[in-house]
Amino acid sequence: MKIQDFDVIVVGGGTAGAIAAVAAARSGASTCLVEATGHLGGTCHALANVTPFHNSRGEQVVAGLAQELVDRLTALGGAHQRGHLPNPAGIGGSFTPLDPDLMKLALFEMTEAENVALWLHTVLVEVVTDDTHVRGVRVHNKSGLHELRAPVVIDATGDADVAVRAGAQYSQDTPEAALNATLLFRVAGVDTDAFIDDARRAPHKFVLLADPYLRDIEHLTPEKVMQGVQDIYDCPYIYLANVVRDYVPRADWSEWGVTAEDKGGWGRLQPFAARFSIMPLPLRHDVVTLNVTSITFDATDGAQRSRAEITGHRQMHQALEVLRRYVPGFGSSYLHTVLPAVSIRASRRIAGEYELTREDVESGTRFDDGIARGSYPMSVQSATQPGVREHLFVRNGGDYDIPYRCLVPERIDGLLVAGRCLSATREAIGSARMGAQCMAYGEAAGTAAALAVADNRTPRAVDIAKLRMELRARHAIL
Ligand SMILES: Cc1cc2nc3c(=O)[nH]c(=O)nc-3n(C[C@H](O)[C@H](O)[C@H](O)COP(=O)(O)OP(=O)(O)OC[C@H]3O[C@@H](n4cnc5c(N)ncnc54)[C@H](O)[C@@H]3O)c2cc1C
Repeated sequence: MKIQDFDVIVVGGGTAGAIAAVAAARSGASTCLVEATGHLGGTCHALANVTPFHNSRGEQVVAGLAQELVDRLTALGGAHQRGHLPNPAGIGGSFTPLDPDLMKLALFEMTEAENVALWLHTVLVEVVTDDTHVRGVRVHNKSGLHELRAPVVIDATGDADVAVRAGAQYSQDTPEAALNATLLFRVAGVDTDAFIDDARRAPHKFVLLADPYLRDIEHLTPEKVMQGVQDIYDCPYIYLANVVRDYVPRADWSEWGVTAEDKGGWGRLQPFAARFSIMPLPLRHDVVTLNVTSITFDATDGAQRSRAEITGHRQMHQALEVLRRYVPGFGSSYLHTVLPAVSIRASRRIAGEYELTREDVESGTRFDDGIARGSYPMSVQSATQPGVREHLFVRNGGDYDIPYRCLVPERIDGLLVAGRCLSATREAIGSARMGAQCMAYGEAAGTAAALAVADNRTPRAVDIAKLRMELRARHAIL
């Protein structure tokens, strides 16, 4: 088996991992990035957006490398000319659509510019440990088994694959209590003007302004919001509230097994009738990403993951039929892209030096070791109503800190995590998992890993003042 040495190894080149690798390498660490697929960008590439860069008051909460990515995409023609779009639907202060293919190119160029050793089509096999100290990873690709060694490994696999194999403690909710997963897809040939026209005429069909700050302090109403909307970029994150009630004619109900307007009677439309969310691409007016399918399973179970793909495809074709037959603007639409895998919202979260809580998020808590800011509401599965998602907002439209300690696993040394497996409660991860936040603390993880190597310390002992100074110097918002 071939052995190679680096300063920092990042496993998972998705939303958080690609940015972590660029940050580590830019800080002078020889960095290797291991990624199972043939591209970078992970779930945010699938979504074609990174959100939210702003809180509900319109103040920017994420910049640094995430903003640099948006600026690069703007230069490449892969972002909307207005960059971050206001999000009047009231979930997340802004919405930033990015062209998914140019996002891949931009991330490749950013890693190349920093001499990151890119190991694509390569999967983690096992973790090399010395008792509770991670020393490296064994990975497999077309040329066989390799051992990669480094003083610091960053787990950015989303599912905490490295941390768990190294023996870290973690929590994971039952599939029913966790946020659902989704097979994302895009359709082309959409008349988005006709769709928005319908939204303007009937704002009640859409989930708008759930944020109490916008509703009660700014006194916005769905009608007021929709009056100002000219095209889909003025309202870029639309949820259809109830497809059965608002779109499917009663004459067609029996065909779908529908018996009533409310949830209990949605028949075969049940998985997605209230979760239809439609997101535009930055420049293609006629192409949208559909966040519609809803699959409940354990994302860390190989067999369940296979079955989830089948369920996702089945639901997708049903949803497409609903769109084409009933939703204005979608009559001539056709399938443009099916993303290669079901996207996962929730699986394992490590037990870190600190666990971010619901109270921290709600009350906009500041921490001495804050290394990134979050502002998105906490999406959580309702404990009382199965299949219903609730949103718990940050008070007064503000934002909160994500502490460095959430990236540091208890007891295990030589390891940091970045991305949705960070240490947080079930509620708090519902906010901190968003793409812009994953990039922001991905940058912090990469910078901290390089600092640890330079100062010959474990990640747990990194000089926080120095880390925060370094991040600020790189235009991160702390
Ligand atoms: C359906 C859905 C809708 C969402 N909507 C939005 C939205 O509109 N805007 C937004 O900003 N956020 C949204 N989010 C949240 C956000 O996209 C994710 O939480 C975030 O992208 C997670 O980033 P990550 O780096 O942790 O994981 P990912 O981006 O998923 O990256 C993990 C990477 O690790 C790789 N990997 C995994 N295991 C291994 C292994 N064993 N070996 C090698 N490589 C491995 C994967 O291939 C992947 O590239 C959504 C999430 C979902 C699922």
